[in-house]
Amino acid sequence: MSATASLAAPRPAFDAARVRRDFPILEQRVNGRPLVYLDSAASGQRPLPVLRAVERYETHCHANVHRGVHALSQAATEAFEGARERVRRFINAASVREIVFVRGTTEAINLVAQSFGRPRLAPGEEILITALEHHANIVPWQMVCEQTGATLKVAPIDRRGELVLDRFLELLSPRTRVVAVAQVSNALGTVLPVKQITDAAHARGAVVLIDGAQAIPHSRIDVRELGCDFYAFSGHKLYGPTGIGVLYGREELLAAMPPWQGGGDMIRTVSFEKTTYNDLPWKFEAGTPNISGAVGLAAAMDYVKDLGLAAIAGHEQRLLELATAGLARIAGIRIIGTAVRKASVLSFTMEGCHPHDLGTILDAEGVAIRTGHHCAMPVMTFFDIPATARASFGCYNTEEDVEALLAALAKAREVFG
Ligand code: PMP
Repeated sequence: MSATASLAAPRPAFDAARVRRDFPILEQRVNGRPLVYLDSAASGQRPLPVLRAVERYETHCHANVHRGVHALSQAATEAFEGARERVRRFINAASVREIVFVRGTTEAINLVAQSFGRPRLAPGEEILITALEHHANIVPWQMVCEQTGATLKVAPIDRRGELVLDRFLELLSPRTRVVAVAQVSNALGTVLPVKQITDAAHARGAVVLIDGAQAIPHSRIDVRELGCDFYAFSGHKLYGPTGIGVLYGREELLAAMPPWQGGGDMIRTVSFEKTTYNDLPWKFEAGTPNISGAVGLAAAMDYVKDLGLAAIAGHEQRLLELATAGLARIAGIRIIGTAVRKASVLSFTMEGCHPHDLGTILDAEGVAIRTGHHCAMPVMTFFDIPATARASFGCYNTEEDVEALLAALAKAREVFG
């Protein structure tokens, strides 16, 4: 450490209690108890700067984008295209032409499957995914396989919920055209080595899509450093609005892809004989977009940047460790997903108690967790369970939240004997 660094004042600890005050929704009581929100992996809550940015836009700036010469339309266009530039900076894309606004991760992956995959894939060619994918990164590929005769290959996971990298590398072949993997598993919390995966896939000539839905709120994403071809994420997992998300695509690939949906805004000229398409990224944005959603998403990006993504991740890791240690002390709890590198997602089962019953008991205590298959049914099948209970942490969660979770689980344990 340099002399200057060692003399520098220590960074103040992450002040989650202060962060929490930015999220008015967390102030309410549920079933007579203070709300303990542990479902951020399903959807994050929105801080005041996001709510205010959306309100400001809706109150003062709204009109349709791109088509108007009047002042409001120009203000709306500026807000929308300005948001695109902030997204570009947030993930360090080379150009705004590489930032396509979509409804969310699901739509982004479907767009790539249909616009990149469908015209290119042929029988005998392969798409490689992993066994821990969310349905959003399984079903669109199954659909395109049905349409083209291509084959879906699945790299296995082990009992810890980690990708078996050797098997993944063996499954990569000259027939592999697309590799599509999650950066973080929503059901298990596993962090995948996406840079290594990307490099290996590229060495075989495959194109790589990363499902960043669960990674984006916990880590700094630099798409150029990752080297991926496509990166998909949703605004609502990043403390932004629902109904807005991003597909990043390398310009060269997006430029060669046909439009996905047809309609207004994605065209340059239309006649009954021939239609020509708009430039990137609008070629992929048919119809009136979610303008206030984009504005809210950009505000959410500014918000997490101000808090510091590394500081958020460090705080969440501490909560994850605390909760993991606490769960180990409760009889009959089995943690599902024990990878060495995990994001702040904690899936578990309690012996003698169905996860849904557990969720209901916890809700009565004001503790909101998610129960079910988490849109990852193959993961449940692999672990031979119907469902899990899942607690997930965000920037606003505190050690008191973890204590409330553990106390509610201890109560459930008593109820179920
Ligand atoms: N992939 C992963 C890993 C997810 O966690 C989710 C959301 N649960 C999705 C994809 C789909 O995101 P959305 O529903 O916002 O399209």
